[in-house]
Amino acid sequence: YFNSDTLAFVDGEFVKANEAVVGAYAQSLHYGYAVFEGIRAYATPSGTQIFKAQEHYERLHYSCQSIGLPFHYSVDELTDITYQLLEKNNLADAYIRPLVYAGDPNMTLKHASSSNLLIAVWDWGKYLGDQSLRLTISPYQRPNPKAVPIEAKVSGHYVNSIIASSEAKGRGYDEALLLDMNGYVAEGPGANFFFEKDGELFTAPQGSILRGITRNTIIDLAREAGIRVTEKFFTPDELQGATGAFYTGTAAEVVGIAAIDELEFSTPFSETLGAQLAERYRALVTGALVEQNA
Ligand code: PMP
Repeated sequence: YFNSDTLAFVDGEFVKANEAVVGAYAQSLHYGYAVFEGIRAYATPSGTQIFKAQEHYERLHYSCQSIGLPFHYSVDELTDITYQLLEKNNLADAYIRPLVYAGDPNMTLKHASSSNLLIAVWDWGKYLGDQSLRLTISPYQRPNPKAVPIEAKVSGHYVNSIIASSEAKGRGYDEALLLDMNGYVAEGPGANFFFEKDGELFTAPQGSILRGITRNTIIDLAREAGIRVTEKFFTPDELQGATGAFYTGTAAEVVGIAAIDELEFSTPFSETLGAQLAERYRALVTGALVEQNA
C-alpha cells in the first residue's frame, strides 16, 4: 500500500504515511468508533478525476453525524486536499481512503469531543478481480439497523464483513452474500447486490444496506438505457430463475456473479445486462462516456 516515500494527509498536514501513527489509548482503536470512505480516482482524457467526490464526502459527513463524531471539513476542502494528495504521490488511477477517527486517549463510551482525519491513497486493482464470482450465502447476517446505523460507513461494522468474507473463503467460495435480520438478501461484505430476471434488474431497498454510490450510478445508467430497476426485499428463493447477478462497489466496480451456492446462472456474465452496465460504468469513470456525449 505504501513505501517510505508515500504521503498521507493527517490533520491538516501531508506526512510520510509510514510515520502516521495512532496512540495506544485512542478511542477508535478500542471500540471501532470511526467512519471511513472508499473513493476512486481515474486517469481520464482531462486528467485525474475523482469519481463522485461530492457524494463520497457527503456520505462521510453523514456517517460522522450518525455516530456523533465531530467533523469540520467541508466537501470542497476535502476534495481539494485529495487532489493535492494524489498529485504529491504521482497517482492518477488510485483508491482513496479517508478515515475520521477519535485519536485522543479516551476509554469512555461517550461521543468523542474531537476527531482526527487521515486520507491514505494507493494503487488498487479491482477489489474482487475480473472473473465472475462464486458466492455462498453467509451464516452471518448483516448488522441489525436497530442496533447500529447500518447506512453509515462505520469502521466497527466491518468486523461483520471480515468474518463473513473469511468464512465464505474458508469454504472455498470467492465471496459471501449476506442476508438481513429478516432473511432478505442484503449485500456483500463490501458491495451491493443486483440480479436480473426477465430483462429487468432487482436490488435490495435502502434500510439494511449501505446506500452504495456505485449502486446509484448503476441504477441511473440502467434507467438511461431503458432497463427497468426495482428496489425491493427478496429472499434467496426468489433468485431461482434469475439469469444473472453482479456486485457493485467503488473498489469492486461491477463484477459478475456466476453462482450462489447450488444456483448457477444460465447465461454467461458477458451476455448479461450486468456486463453491458459494467462497460458503461468503465466508460463513465474513465471519461469516455462524457467524451462520447460531447
Ligand atoms: N456495501 C458495503 C457493505 C460496502 O462496504 C460498500 C463499499 N463502500 C458498498 C456496499 C458499495 O458502496 P459504494 O458503491 O459506495 O462503494
